[in-house]
Amino acid sequence: MSVKRYNALNLLRQGRRGHQDWAPAWRLPEPRPAYDAVIVGGGGHGLATAYYLAKNHGIRNVAVLEKGWLGGGNTGRNTTIVRSNYFWPESAALYDLALRLYEGLSEDLNYNIMLSQRGMLILAHSEPELDMMKRSVNAMQLNGVDCDIMSEAEVRARVPLLDMARYEVWGALVQHRAGVARHDAVAWGYARGADRLGVDIIQNCEVTGFQMQGDRVTAVETSRGTIGCGVVGLAAAGHQNLLAQKLGFRLPLLSYCLQAMVSEAIKPVLDTVVLSPAVGTYVSQSAKGSLVFGAGLDLYPSYAQRGNFPTTQKIVAGLVEMFPSFARLKVLRQWGGNVDVAPDSSPIIGPSPVANVFLDCGWGTGGFKAIPGGGWLLAHCLATGRHHPISEPFDLKRFAEGRLIDEGAAAGIAH
Ligand SMILES: Cc1cc2nc3c(=O)[nH]c(=O)nc-3n(C[C@H](O)[C@H](O)[C@H](O)COP(=O)(O)OP(=O)(O)OC[C@H]3O[C@@H](n4cnc5c(N)ncnc54)[C@H](O)[C@@H]3O)c2cc1C
Repeated sequence: MSVKRYNALNLLRQGRRGHQDWAPAWRLPEPRPAYDAVIVGGGGHGLATAYYLAKNHGIRNVAVLEKGWLGGGNTGRNTTIVRSNYFWPESAALYDLALRLYEGLSEDLNYNIMLSQRGMLILAHSEPELDMMKRSVNAMQLNGVDCDIMSEAEVRARVPLLDMARYEVWGALVQHRAGVARHDAVAWGYARGADRLGVDIIQNCEVTGFQMQGDRVTAVETSRGTIGCGVVGLAAAGHQNLLAQKLGFRLPLLSYCLQAMVSEAIKPVLDTVVLSPAVGTYVSQSAKGSLVFGAGLDLYPSYAQRGNFPTTQKIVAGLVEMFPSFARLKVLRQWGGNVDVAPDSSPIIGPSPVANVFLDCGWGTGGFKAIPGGGWLLAHCLATGRHHPISEPFDLKRFAEGRLIDEGAAAGIAH
C-alpha cells in the first residue's frame, strides 16, 4: 500500500524498505472536459490558489494549467527571501498575512518548506538614511509588523564578515521574523496539498487562447485541447500581459529579467540575510552552504531568462564590496526569471475587465514571500466573486482612480 503522510515513523519504516512505497506527491492527470475553476500558471501563486480554493472554500473541481513544469517560472528561480516589512498599511496587511501563513505552512501542508526565520538586515550607509529607516520602522510598528533598528555595533556583531571600505555602516533596519524558505518545497508542498484535495495539476499545458460568450470566458484553449471553465484565475507572472492581450485588455505591467546567482558551498559564515541599498546587492547562505545573491532588475523590459552581463557584473561587484573575503569564491550558477512590474511596485489582485476572470500578478521582484497570501486572496475572489478586504486596495482599478500603493517609493527595496 502506498504511504502518503510524511512523518518520522513512516520515514523510518520506508528507510528500512528502500523508500519503495511512497505515494507520488501528485498525480499526472489528463485534462477533463471542464472544471469549475481553471487557474493558469503552476507557480507558487497558482498552486496556492488551487489549494486554498479546495481547502477554504470546498471547490475541488479545479485545474492548474502550467505550460512547463511546476515552479519552473519565478517560483523556482528566486532567492527565497520572505519578510513583511513594508511601509504602507495595505502592504503590511497583505505581506504579513503571507508571512503568518508561511509560519504554519510546513504543518498545514505536511511538507517541510524549510522556513528559516533568521532575520533580514537592510543597511543604512549615512545618518539621513538611518533617519529614514527610523521613520519606516515607526510606520511598520504602527502597522503591527515586528521591525527594529540595529546599531552599527550590533550589525558588526551579527555579521562579522561585513567589511565595506567605501560605504560606512550606520546601522540597519531589521525584521527578525524575516528569513528564507525553500522555494521548490513551497511549490511542491502546495501541489501535493491541492492534489490530495482533488485538484488536477496539468503540466506541459500552455494556454493559447480563450473562448468567450458575451463578457465571460467559457473555455480555455490549450496545447492539450479545449477545457471548459466556470471561473478563471490568471497567475502567470511575467507572461500575464500576453494572456490579458488574448482576452482583449492590457495590464499596466512591464516584464523584466531579474537575475541571481549561487556560489560554491562553504562552511556556515552568514546566519542572516543582508541587503545593502548602496550597492543594491543582497545575500544569504543556503542550507547547503552556497551563498545566494542577487540585486535589482536588468535595465530594460525583456522576456529573456538569462540576464545581461553588465548586471551580472554589478551584482558580483556589490557582493565583493560588502564582503571582500567572498571574492575568493567561485560562482557556480547564474540564472534569470521574468518578473512583472507594476508602476507602484505593488501587485494586482482581483477582478479583471472580463466578468469571470480574476488576476494575481504584478509581484515584480518580491512575490515569493507573498505566495500564501496571494493564493489565499485569489481563491477568495474566485470562490465568492468579491474581494477579501485585504485584496481590495490592490484592485486593477487603482490605476484609473489614482489610488497607487507606491511601495517603490516607500520601501524602495526589492525582494
Ligand atoms: C532571480 C529572482 C529572485 C527573486 N527573489 C525573490 C525573493 O528573494 N523574495 C521574493 O519574495 N520574491 C523574489 N522573486 C520574485 C518571485 O519569485 C516572484 O514574484 C514569484 O515567484 C511569482 O510567483 P508566481 O506564481 O506569480 O509566478 P511564477 O512562479 O513565474 O509562475 C507563473 C507560471 O505561469 C506559467 N505560464 C506562463 N504563461 C502560461 C501560459 N500561457 N499557459 C500556462 N502556463 C503559463 C509559467 O510557466 C510559470 O510557471 C525573485 C524572482 C527572481 C526571478
